Amino acid sequence: MNIGIIGAGLSGIIAAREVVRHGHTVELIEKSQSVGGRLATRRIGDGKADHGAVYFTVRGEALNREVNDWVERGWVRIWYADPYPRYIAVDGMNALAKRLGDGLTVHLHERAEAVAVENGKVVIKTDVTTRQYDRLLITSPLPQTLELLADFSVEAALRELTYAPTFVGLFEFTSEAAIGSDGIVDTELAPGLLKVINNRQKGITATELVSVYMDEAWSEAWYGRPDEETLQEIERLLATVTGTASIQSKQLKRWRYAQATDVWNEPFYHLDGHPIYLAGDVFLERGDASGRTRFESAYVSGLHVAEAMRS
Ligand SMILES: Cc1cc2nc3c(=O)[nH]c(=O)nc-3n(C[C@H](O)[C@H](O)[C@H](O)COP(=O)(O)OP(=O)(O)OC[C@H]3O[C@@H](n4cnc5c(N)ncnc54)[C@H](O)[C@@H]3O)c2cc1C
Repeated sequence: MNIGIIGAGLSGIIAAREVVRHGHTVELIEKSQSVGGRLATRRIGDGKADHGAVYFTVRGEALNREVNDWVERGWVRIWYADPYPRYIAVDGMNALAKRLGDGLTVHLHERAEAVAVENGKVVIKTDVTTRQYDRLLITSPLPQTLELLADFSVEAALRELTYAPTFVGLFEFTSEAAIGSDGIVDTELAPGLLKVINNRQKGITATELVSVYMDEAWSEAWYGRPDEETLQEIERLLATVTGTASIQSKQLKRWRYAQATDVWNEPFYHLDGHPIYLAGDVFLERGDASGRTRFESAYVSGLHVAEAMRS
């Protein structure tokens, strides 16, 4: 079978690996210049900073088995455990996505723009070409997925799931800007701040790079404002943690669809009567212990949808 996957984030990569392992042909279509999606790391000067997922946790057996293997390969390690382990990728979260996607066929810089079904095949029009597959998996955040599926009928409840944005400020310091004992502070912060991370203390870089994650309400309230003003306000809030240490450079990352505010309680969705499947972090397996979208829900969704697509 020839399978197309829109989106080379964690769920798309995991699904692709699984179907390839079972002898099918897979192509991923990814609009960005790299795989990983929200497993995102930015190069800044001589260093790098995570600006998507900060760490991941493990609750289920499926991810647990795989993580033990990743630890043995030296791809991930425990950052801190308080009270349960927070895993990070040793070279930044994006490097883990690249390692997992190694060997897969990925069409980068290619945006899927329209989806149709013709004579039982799925036809995808992208901004580069037209591609045809026996089955299609779409793993983009739901609002983007549903735009692609405007001509298809999907359950109304799926269209009602909403996402919150997140701003992340990235700051390069000229001198030490230690953040707590492990490089993370996520309590007793000024209103608006969610997490402040020092990427050097986290162990992914040698330079003093701090990632500042703003909470949902703040990000929503500031979403319409200019980047410069937003970054300035994040810097002001950061000073409540770092004091007056001097900043050499700063950047802003704007995630329109960072986290879903609600979830779908099935690990994937199959469009009635069509060879089209939806997966991603918003699709949780039944009885999910956390009930939240996260690294693990994207991973588990990828595994489940792969099994369904190849049967
Ligand atoms: C700021 C932030 C902090 C987070 N922190 C944590 C954390 O600490 N712990 C944790 O467990 N999780 C965290 N998460 C969530 C975690 O990153 C996600 O749950 C997970 O990475 C989602 O993977 P996914 O494959 O479902 O989606 P994505 O990673 O979003 O992948 C979807 C892919 O589809 C691509 N795409 C979209 N539209 C198209 C199109 N039309 N054509 C082609 N490609 C397209 C996108 O570019 C993207 O690469 C965080 C997320 C953000 C944004």
